[in-house]
Amino acid sequence: MIIKERTIPIRIQKNEALLRRLPKDHIKRQEMEEDLRKRWAGYRGEQAVDYYLGKLPDKDFLIFHGIRLSNGEYFFQIDTLILTPYFALILEIKNYSGTLYFDPTFNQWIQTTQMGEKGYPCPIEQANQQKQGLKKWLEARNISIPIDFLVIISKPSTILKTAHVNTPILQKVLHVQFILDKIQKMKYKDPLLNTKELKRISRLMLKEHKPETLDILTFYKIHPTEIITGVICSNCMSIQMTKCYGSWICPECKQKDPHAHVRAVDDYFLLFNDSPLSNQKFRDFLHLTSPYIANRLLLSMNLPFTGSRKDRIYHSSETR
Ligand SMILES: [Zn+2]
Repeated sequence: MIIKERTIPIRIQKNEALLRRLPKDHIKRQEMEEDLRKRWAGYRGEQAVDYYLGKLPDKDFLIFHGIRLSNGEYFFQIDTLILTPYFALILEIKNYSGTLYFDPTFNQWIQTTQMGEKGYPCPIEQANQQKQGLKKWLEARNISIPIDFLVIISKPSTILKTAHVNTPILQKVLHVQFILDKIQKMKYKDPLLNTKELKRISRLMLKEHKPETLDILTFYKIHPTEIITGVICSNCMSIQMTKCYGSWICPECKQKDPHAHVRAVDDYFLLFNDSPLSNQKFRDFLHLTSPYIANRLLLSMNLPFTGSRKDRIYHSSETR
Protein backbone atom coordinates (compact mmCIF):
# COMPACT_ATOMS: atom_id res chain seq x y z
CA MET A 1 0.00 0.00 0.00
CA ILE A 2 1.46 3.37 -0.99
CA ILE A 3 1.43 5.73 2.00
CA LYS A 4 3.42 8.51 0.33
CA GLU A 5 3.15 8.83 -3.43
CA ARG A 6 6.13 9.65 -5.60
CA THR A 7 5.80 13.12 -7.08
CA ILE A 8 7.91 14.98 -9.61
CA PRO A 9 10.89 16.15 -7.54
CA ILE A 10 10.80 19.80 -6.57
CA ARG A 11 14.28 20.18 -8.03
CA ILE A 12 12.99 19.19 -11.49
CA GLN A 13 10.12 21.64 -11.16
CA LYS A 14 12.52 24.42 -10.19
CA ASN A 15 14.92 23.68 -13.05
CA GLU A 16 12.04 23.70 -15.53
CA ALA A 17 10.64 26.99 -14.21
CA LEU A 18 14.09 28.52 -14.53
CA LEU A 19 14.56 27.32 -18.11
CA ARG A 20 11.12 28.70 -19.02
CA ARG A 21 12.12 32.11 -17.78
CA LEU A 22 15.69 32.61 -18.91
CA PRO A 23 16.70 34.03 -22.30
CA LYS A 24 17.24 31.35 -24.98
CA ASP A 25 20.93 32.29 -25.25
CA HIS A 26 21.66 32.38 -21.52
CA ILE A 27 25.17 31.15 -20.74
CA LYS A 28 24.01 28.70 -18.01
CA ARG A 29 21.29 27.07 -20.13
CA GLN A 30 23.33 24.12 -21.31
CA GLU A 31 24.45 23.22 -17.79
CA MET A 32 20.84 23.43 -16.53
CA GLU A 33 19.47 21.38 -19.41
CA GLU A 34 22.05 18.67 -18.81
CA ASP A 35 21.27 18.63 -15.10
CA LEU A 36 17.54 18.45 -15.84
CA ARG A 37 18.04 15.58 -18.28
CA LYS A 38 19.87 13.56 -15.62
CA ARG A 39 17.24 14.29 -13.00
CA TRP A 40 14.41 13.19 -15.29
CA ALA A 41 16.32 9.97 -16.04
CA GLY A 42 16.72 9.40 -12.30
CA TYR A 43 13.03 10.00 -11.71
CA ARG A 44 12.07 7.59 -14.52
CA GLY A 45 14.38 5.01 -12.94
CA GLU A 46 12.48 5.40 -9.68
CA GLN A 47 9.19 4.98 -11.53
CA ALA A 48 10.52 1.76 -13.09
CA VAL A 49 11.06 0.42 -9.56
CA ASP A 50 7.56 1.53 -8.57
CA TYR A 51 6.13 -0.66 -11.29
CA TYR A 52 7.51 -3.74 -9.55
CA LEU A 53 6.66 -2.56 -6.05
CA GLY A 54 3.06 -2.19 -7.20
CA LYS A 55 2.93 -5.99 -7.28
CA LEU A 56 3.66 -6.40 -3.58
CA PRO A 57 0.60 -7.39 -1.55
CA ASP A 58 -1.07 -4.29 -0.08
CA LYS A 59 -1.26 -5.86 3.32
CA ASP A 60 2.02 -5.81 5.28
CA PHE A 61 3.94 -3.58 2.84
CA LEU A 62 3.68 0.16 3.46
CA ILE A 63 5.53 2.18 0.85
CA PHE A 64 6.89 5.71 1.27
CA HIS A 65 8.42 7.47 -1.73
CA GLY A 66 10.89 10.32 -1.31
CA ILE A 67 10.50 10.67 2.44
CA ARG A 68 12.87 13.22 4.03
CA LEU A 69 13.25 13.26 7.81
CA SER A 70 15.56 14.77 10.39
CA ASN A 71 17.04 12.70 13.20
CA GLY A 72 17.94 15.83 15.13
CA GLU A 73 21.43 16.07 13.65
CA TYR A 74 20.90 15.91 9.92
CA PHE A 75 18.26 15.28 7.27
CA PHE A 76 18.19 12.03 5.38
CA GLN A 77 16.14 11.36 2.28
CA ILE A 78 15.12 7.89 1.19
CA ASP A 79 14.21 7.12 -2.44
CA THR A 80 11.79 4.43 -1.28
CA LEU A 81 11.12 3.06 2.17
CA ILE A 82 9.15 -0.14 2.69
CA LEU A 83 7.79 -0.67 6.14
CA THR A 84 6.52 -4.09 7.17
CA PRO A 85 5.55 -5.64 10.52
CA TYR A 86 8.90 -7.48 10.41
CA PHE A 87 11.44 -4.99 9.07
CA ALA A 88 12.05 -1.67 7.36
CA LEU A 89 13.73 -1.73 3.96
CA ILE A 90 15.50 1.21 2.33
CA LEU A 91 15.80 1.24 -1.45
CA GLU A 92 18.51 3.39 -2.99
CA ILE A 93 17.68 3.61 -6.69
CA LYS A 94 20.35 4.23 -9.32
CA ASN A 95 19.79 4.66 -13.02
CA TYR A 96 23.36 4.07 -14.19
CA SER A 97 23.74 2.72 -17.68
CA GLY A 98 26.64 0.96 -19.41
CA THR A 99 28.96 -1.16 -17.28
CA LEU A 100 29.35 -0.64 -13.55
CA TYR A 101 32.48 -1.83 -11.86
CA PHE A 102 32.59 -1.94 -8.08
CA ASP A 103 36.10 -1.20 -6.86
CA PRO A 104 36.29 -2.50 -3.27
CA THR A 105 39.81 -1.16 -2.73
CA PHE A 106 38.80 2.45 -3.06
CA ASN A 107 35.14 1.84 -2.31
CA GLN A 108 33.98 3.54 -5.45
CA TRP A 109 31.92 2.70 -8.49
CA ILE A 110 33.27 3.17 -11.97
CA GLN A 111 30.81 3.52 -14.80
CA THR A 112 31.94 2.89 -18.37
CA THR A 113 29.82 4.10 -21.25
CA GLN A 114 30.53 5.24 -24.81
CA MET A 115 31.47 8.58 -23.26
CA GLY A 116 34.30 6.99 -21.25
CA GLU A 117 34.83 6.30 -17.54
CA LYS A 118 33.20 8.07 -14.65
CA GLY A 119 33.53 7.54 -10.90
CA TYR A 120 30.67 7.67 -8.40
CA PRO A 121 30.54 7.56 -4.63
CA CYS A 122 29.53 4.15 -3.36
CA PRO A 123 25.70 3.90 -3.19
CA ILE A 124 26.02 1.19 -0.54
CA GLU A 125 27.68 3.79 1.64
CA GLN A 126 24.87 6.24 0.87
CA ALA A 127 22.19 3.69 1.73
CA ASN A 128 24.04 2.79 4.91
CA GLN A 129 24.01 6.43 6.00
CA GLN A 130 20.26 6.56 5.45
CA LYS A 131 19.95 3.41 7.51
CA GLN A 132 21.83 5.05 10.39
CA GLY A 133 19.63 8.15 10.06
CA LEU A 134 16.44 6.11 10.12
CA LYS A 135 17.67 3.97 13.00
CA LYS A 136 18.18 7.04 15.14
CA TRP A 137 14.84 8.51 14.08
CA LEU A 138 12.99 5.32 15.02
CA GLU A 139 14.87 4.86 18.30
CA ALA A 140 13.96 8.39 19.37
CA ARG A 141 10.32 7.35 18.95
CA ASN A 142 10.76 4.08 20.84
CA ILE A 143 10.41 1.94 17.75
CA SER A 144 12.67 -1.04 17.43
CA ILE A 145 12.76 -2.92 14.15
CA PRO A 146 15.54 -4.32 11.94
CA ILE A 147 16.50 -2.02 9.06
CA ASP A 148 17.93 -3.35 5.84
CA PHE A 149 18.77 -1.70 2.53
CA LEU A 150 19.18 -2.55 -1.12
CA VAL A 151 20.73 -0.67 -4.01
CA ILE A 152 18.50 -1.07 -7.04
CA ILE A 153 19.86 -0.64 -10.55
CA SER A 154 16.82 0.58 -12.46
CA LYS A 155 18.06 -0.31 -15.96
CA PRO A 156 17.91 -4.07 -16.66
CA SER A 157 20.58 -3.65 -19.36
CA THR A 158 23.28 -2.25 -17.03
CA ILE A 159 26.18 -4.67 -16.62
CA LEU A 160 27.48 -5.14 -13.06
CA LYS A 161 31.06 -6.22 -12.46
CA THR A 162 33.42 -6.59 -9.54
CA ALA A 163 36.83 -8.08 -8.80
CA HIS A 164 35.68 -9.88 -5.66
CA VAL A 165 32.79 -12.11 -6.60
CA ASN A 166 32.10 -13.10 -3.02
CA THR A 167 32.11 -9.63 -1.55
CA PRO A 168 29.08 -10.04 0.70
CA ILE A 169 28.19 -6.39 0.31
CA LEU A 170 27.28 -7.07 -3.32
CA GLN A 171 24.33 -9.07 -2.06
CA LYS A 172 22.87 -5.64 -1.52
CA VAL A 173 22.98 -4.64 -5.18
CA LEU A 174 20.51 -5.95 -7.71
CA HIS A 175 18.70 -5.20 -10.92
CA VAL A 176 15.16 -3.92 -10.70
CA GLN A 177 13.57 -7.05 -12.17
CA PHE A 178 14.76 -9.17 -9.21
CA ILE A 179 13.42 -6.92 -6.51
CA LEU A 180 10.17 -8.74 -5.73
CA ASP A 181 11.89 -12.07 -5.41
CA LYS A 182 14.52 -10.55 -3.12
CA ILE A 183 11.96 -8.85 -0.86
CA GLN A 184 9.79 -11.93 -0.61
CA LYS A 185 12.80 -13.99 0.42
CA MET A 186 13.58 -11.65 3.31
CA LYS A 187 12.28 -13.92 6.00
CA TYR A 188 11.84 -12.72 9.54
CA LYS A 189 10.42 -14.82 12.29
CA ASP A 190 7.74 -12.94 14.14
CA PRO A 191 6.02 -9.65 13.49
CA LEU A 192 7.44 -6.86 15.66
CA LEU A 193 4.90 -4.18 14.85
CA ASN A 194 1.12 -4.51 14.90
CA THR A 195 -1.31 -2.61 12.68
CA LYS A 196 -1.76 0.12 15.26
CA GLU A 197 1.99 0.70 15.56
CA LEU A 198 2.44 0.72 11.79
CA LYS A 199 -0.28 3.36 11.54
CA ARG A 200 1.40 5.46 14.21
CA ILE A 201 4.76 5.34 12.40
CA SER A 202 3.12 6.18 9.07
CA ARG A 203 1.37 9.16 10.62
CA LEU A 204 4.60 10.38 12.23
CA MET A 205 6.59 10.02 9.02
CA LEU A 206 4.10 11.96 6.96
CA LYS A 207 3.87 14.66 9.62
CA GLU A 208 7.63 15.02 9.99
CA HIS A 209 8.46 14.80 6.29
CA LYS A 210 10.25 18.00 5.32
CA PRO A 211 10.51 18.65 1.59
CA GLU A 212 13.89 19.76 0.34
CA THR A 213 14.28 23.49 -0.09
CA LEU A 214 16.74 24.93 -2.54
CA ASP A 215 17.23 28.48 -3.70
CA ILE A 216 17.67 27.64 -7.37
CA LEU A 217 18.79 31.18 -8.34
CA THR A 218 21.61 31.14 -5.79
CA PHE A 219 22.52 27.60 -6.83
CA TYR A 220 23.08 28.61 -10.46
CA LYS A 221 24.25 32.13 -9.55
CA ILE A 222 21.40 33.78 -11.43
CA HIS A 223 20.48 37.36 -10.51
CA PRO A 224 16.72 37.84 -9.99
CA THR A 225 16.72 40.58 -12.66
CA GLU A 226 17.73 37.95 -15.25
CA ILE A 227 14.37 36.21 -14.80
CA ILE A 228 11.87 37.06 -17.53
CA THR A 229 8.62 38.10 -15.89
CA GLY A 230 5.14 37.92 -17.40
CA VAL A 231 2.45 35.32 -18.03
CA ILE A 232 3.46 32.43 -20.29
CA CYS A 233 1.20 31.08 -23.03
CA SER A 234 0.94 27.30 -22.67
CA ASN A 235 0.40 26.97 -26.41
CA CYS A 236 3.35 28.86 -27.92
CA MET A 237 5.40 29.57 -24.75
CA SER A 238 5.48 33.30 -25.50
CA ILE A 239 5.83 35.28 -22.23
CA GLN A 240 3.49 38.14 -22.94
CA MET A 241 -0.08 37.13 -22.31
CA THR A 242 -2.24 40.07 -21.42
CA LYS A 243 -5.25 40.25 -19.15
CA CYS A 244 -8.43 40.90 -21.05
CA TYR A 245 -11.75 40.75 -19.20
CA GLY A 246 -12.15 37.29 -17.70
CA SER A 247 -9.15 35.73 -19.41
CA TRP A 248 -5.54 35.98 -20.52
CA ILE A 249 -4.86 36.33 -24.23
CA CYS A 250 -1.67 35.54 -26.14
CA PRO A 251 -0.89 38.24 -28.72
CA GLU A 252 1.20 35.73 -30.69
CA CYS A 253 -1.14 32.77 -31.17
CA LYS A 254 -4.40 34.28 -29.82
CA GLN A 255 -4.81 31.47 -27.29
CA LYS A 256 -7.18 32.35 -24.43
CA ASP A 257 -6.58 30.95 -20.95
CA PRO A 258 -8.48 32.15 -17.86
CA HIS A 259 -6.05 30.32 -15.53
CA ALA A 260 -2.67 31.31 -17.02
CA HIS A 261 -1.83 33.39 -13.92
CA VAL A 262 -1.83 30.24 -11.75
CA ARG A 263 1.20 28.87 -13.60
CA ALA A 264 2.97 32.22 -13.30
CA VAL A 265 2.45 32.18 -9.53
CA ASP A 266 3.75 28.60 -9.39
CA ASP A 267 6.87 29.75 -11.23
CA TYR A 268 7.27 32.66 -8.82
CA PHE A 269 7.21 30.39 -5.77
CA LEU A 270 9.53 27.85 -7.42
CA LEU A 271 12.09 30.44 -8.47
CA PHE A 272 12.03 32.59 -5.34
CA ASN A 273 12.07 29.67 -2.94
CA ASP A 274 8.52 30.18 -1.67
CA SER A 275 9.13 33.76 -0.61
CA PRO A 276 5.74 35.41 0.03
CA LEU A 277 3.91 37.38 -2.60
CA SER A 278 2.47 40.85 -2.05
CA ASN A 279 -0.07 42.50 -4.34
CA GLN A 280 2.74 44.70 -5.72
CA LYS A 281 5.09 41.77 -6.38
CA PHE A 282 2.26 39.87 -8.03
CA ARG A 283 1.59 42.81 -10.35
CA ASP A 284 5.28 43.20 -11.16
CA PHE A 285 5.69 39.53 -11.97
CA LEU A 286 2.50 39.22 -14.03
CA HIS A 287 2.70 42.68 -15.65
CA LEU A 288 -0.59 43.86 -14.24
CA THR A 289 -1.34 47.50 -13.48
CA SER A 290 -4.57 47.25 -11.52
CA PRO A 291 -4.22 46.39 -7.82
CA TYR A 292 -7.93 45.62 -7.86
CA ILE A 293 -7.62 42.92 -10.55
CA ALA A 294 -4.49 41.60 -8.82
CA ASN A 295 -6.39 41.31 -5.57
CA ARG A 296 -9.25 39.49 -7.23
CA LEU A 297 -6.92 37.00 -8.92
CA LEU A 298 -4.92 36.42 -5.73
CA LEU A 299 -8.08 35.77 -3.72
CA SER A 300 -9.41 33.41 -6.38
CA MET A 301 -6.36 31.19 -5.91
CA ASN A 302 -7.15 30.49 -2.24
CA LEU A 303 -3.53 30.85 -1.19
CA PRO A 304 -2.77 30.95 2.52
CA PHE A 305 -2.12 34.52 3.62
CA THR A 306 -0.92 36.61 6.54
CA GLY A 307 -1.31 40.27 7.39
CA SER A 308 -4.26 42.62 7.37
CA ARG A 309 -6.39 43.35 4.35
CA LYS A 310 -4.26 46.23 3.06
CA ASP A 311 -0.82 44.69 3.37
CA ARG A 312 -1.75 41.09 3.07
CA ILE A 313 0.90 38.72 1.78
CA TYR A 314 0.28 35.36 0.16
CA HIS A 315 2.20 32.16 0.69
CA SER A 316 2.78 29.06 -1.35
CA SER A 317 0.17 26.41 -0.61
CA GLU A 318 2.28 23.63 -2.05
CA THR A 319 3.20 20.87 0.31
CA ARG A 320 6.16 19.66 -1.66
ZN1 LIG B 1 0.63 31.80 -27.57
